[in-house]
Amino acid sequence: MTAAERGVLIVGAGHAAGALAAALRQGGFEGPITLVGEEPLPPYQRPPLSKAVLKGEASPDTLLLRPAAFYADKSISLRLSARVVAVDRAARTASLDDGSVLGWDLLVFATGSRLRALPVPGVDARGVLELRTAADGARIREALAPGRRLVVVGGGYVGLEVAASARALGAEVVVVEREARLLARVASPALSAFFARAHAARGVGLELGATVAGFETAEGAIRGVRLADGRLLAADVAVVGIGALANDALALAAGLACQDGIVVDESARTSDPAVLAIGDCTNRPLPRYGRRMRLESVPNALEQAKQAAAAILGKPVPRAELPWFWSDQYDLRLQIAGLPFDVARTVVRGDPDAGRFVVFHLDADNRLQAVEAVNSPAEFMAARAWAAAAQVLDPDRAADPGVAVKQIPVDAPAAG
Ligand code: FAD
Repeated sequence: MTAAERGVLIVGAGHAAGALAAALRQGGFEGPITLVGEEPLPPYQRPPLSKAVLKGEASPDTLLLRPAAFYADKSISLRLSARVVAVDRAARTASLDDGSVLGWDLLVFATGSRLRALPVPGVDARGVLELRTAADGARIREALAPGRRLVVVGGGYVGLEVAASARALGAEVVVVEREARLLARVASPALSAFFARAHAARGVGLELGATVAGFETAEGAIRGVRLADGRLLAADVAVVGIGALANDALALAAGLACQDGIVVDESARTSDPAVLAIGDCTNRPLPRYGRRMRLESVPNALEQAKQAAAAILGKPVPRAELPWFWSDQYDLRLQIAGLPFDVARTVVRGDPDAGRFVVFHLDADNRLQAVEAVNSPAEFMAARAWAAAAQVLDPDRAADPGVAVKQIPVDAPAAG
């Protein structure tokens, strides 16, 4: 893009960026659109990296959001394997690592998040891997085989999905988690206990409340994971997944308001009206809860892409969606909607031992704040709508699987 033909410049070419570019063209935007992404691939989805693609059930080319030809067809310029290194808001330019400078009228940060580093000895050894990109996924896939010993550091969603996929590939797996339970930051104790049992039953070793002191190596390759209590877990490969941080350094350096992510409003606008931000890199308002926070999920990236497209096209801001998320491990599909703010009580419906149950999170007035559902899609769909509407539930009816789902809200018509 030359200075004469300025348009929308999107920094990052991931899920949010790809969705925004497509939505702009679909909405009739005719100006130049440029995506600059440091990865070599056009926008692709990451969720299958730890699931179907890792297990070899789907080929990596199914990851692309749209065929590569889509971008040329729609006159969307893709600058791949290129990194934006500086943004000048006064001059409305962005500098790339190859020395080129691009102009823009509207700039969109869609820089995603990066993995939190584990600062321990041996972390750079061969066989100590992480999973964020398609290239990372290919490396892990190559390292796993029947009988290979894998240690997963971090019992969050990605770590547990890697553990489940590695078991399917016949690897021996141990998960090391610093907290006393799995999914400690992101799930209820009931769900954590369920997944701990599910993994243990499928042969995964669990080290909870355990800290990694370092990786033992031989000739530059991992041979084990040393725990802080002195024990050594033998390992041929390790995958470190201990959370992610917003890629907001560029925005911060450009003088934009950032606080655990780039601060945006309900139109995805930053503190500079000519600059928007979408996806994992943002700290966004959550009108349903009167709060703001950073989310890492595909639905969030898609929702904010829609908000940004509306803002750029001058259309009304779409109605805020309730955050939701999913995770697949073995034959277990977890679906979560809402966030557990101000929870006064949780109600479990169904039988965790049967691998099918729902956890309702209620506030002090029994309004549904969030729901966690395992292999319960019908209950999930109903509860997702209730959580969005802050519906009051009857906790006793919610807990009783003999009561029909539609009878759980307090104002449901009497059964009969
Ligand atoms: P990304 O898709 O990460 O894209 C950001 C891109 O910007 C990256 O390619 C990055 O390299 C690039 N970039 C950053 N800085 C620059 C720069 N300065 N110049 C150029 N390019 C730059 N979510 C779910 O909802 N469900 C799931 O089951 C799920 N599973 C997941 C499994 C894995 C293994 C991973 C890694 C993530 C998973 N997620 C899941 C999260 C989901 O993939 C992310 O929330 C989503 O990708 C966010 O989209 P994004 O566009 O904000 O960021």
